[in-house]
Amino acid sequence: EKFEQLMISEPVLRALNDMGFEEPTPIQQEAIPVAMSGQDMIGQAQTGTGKTAAFGIPVLERVDGTNRHVQVVILSPTRELAIQVAEELNKMAQYTDIQALPIYGGQDINRQFRSLRKNPQIIVATPGRLMDHMDRGSIKLDQVKIVVLDEADEMLNMGFVDDINKILQEVPEERQTLLFSATMPKAIQNLAETYLTEPTLIRM
Ligand code: AMP
Repeated sequence: EKFEQLMISEPVLRALNDMGFEEPTPIQQEAIPVAMSGQDMIGQAQTGTGKTAAFGIPVLERVDGTNRHVQVVILSPTRELAIQVAEELNKMAQYTDIQALPIYGGQDINRQFRSLRKNPQIIVATPGRLMDHMDRGSIKLDQVKIVVLDEADEMLNMGFVDDINKILQEVPEERQTLLFSATMPKAIQNLAETYLTEPTLIRM
């Protein structure tokens, strides 16, 4: 199978070609149609499987580039992952009007305020710093239509459970939620039962 057969738009296909992505990885093959249809999904996948594009491509297809509000929140356990995911999204979005911004603890908050003035539609954030921006009113989540929990088991290991719960209670109830985790302990299953609706499980 080819990316062309997955109903991906021309600008994203062109970017994937520039990036040297010739064909979808197995998880992309399975996850892209499910996530593009708007369904909730659990992806049990390690890094290196192509999971970022597996959620990144459907996210780009579902964002309205003409709307400059935050439409997607991707929660990430570490600053490094947030930066890496935002970079990959911005490469895939290079021929669209969509922008992704990484937001993480440890970076100067004033610098983040300035970056937020570009009105990115996608925020890739570590949970604690996102909570901080929500409390200050500098990031509003009332138009969010997709939430991605990336490396959810790592986020729980790092003690982000309260922040994750607060963020998921703050975003609109009518939304799509995608959860990625390398392992599926009970705490992850509980999170999925609480916040996902009839998710499709994809294991790699
Ligand atoms: P990830 O699992 O998302 O961290 O991706 C692992 C690496 O594979 C990253 O460097 C991606 O840029 C790359 N990658 C993802 N999907 C593809 C693909 N379909 N073809 C070639 N490389 C890919």
